[in-house]
Amino acid sequence: MQVTAMAEHVFKPGEKAPQAGIYKVLHYQHRLYHEVTVLAGQSLPSCRRCGKDVRFQLVSAASPVEDDADFQQAPGEGGKQST
Ligand SMILES: [Zn+2]
Repeated sequence: MQVTAMAEHVFKPGEKAPQAGIYKVLHYQHRLYHEVTVLAGQSLPSCRRCGKDVRFQLVSAASPVEDDADFQQAPGEGGKQST
């Protein structure tokens, strides 16, 4: 099976993750891909083994739970839902 990187966004080490989420890590030859979680704005590291040939690809964007509207401590409203 060949990995075809079409118009998908692939990030290089040193670039900053545009959004938090799960990224697929694509190593150069020494290892199969795996997934990691990255925080928004975090600069992507280079690999200890394949250095700057490693690539990161956003698989699934996710935001920290405290940033989610339904989990924010809203002042005032008690988060009450009427059915
Ligand atoms: Zn590597």
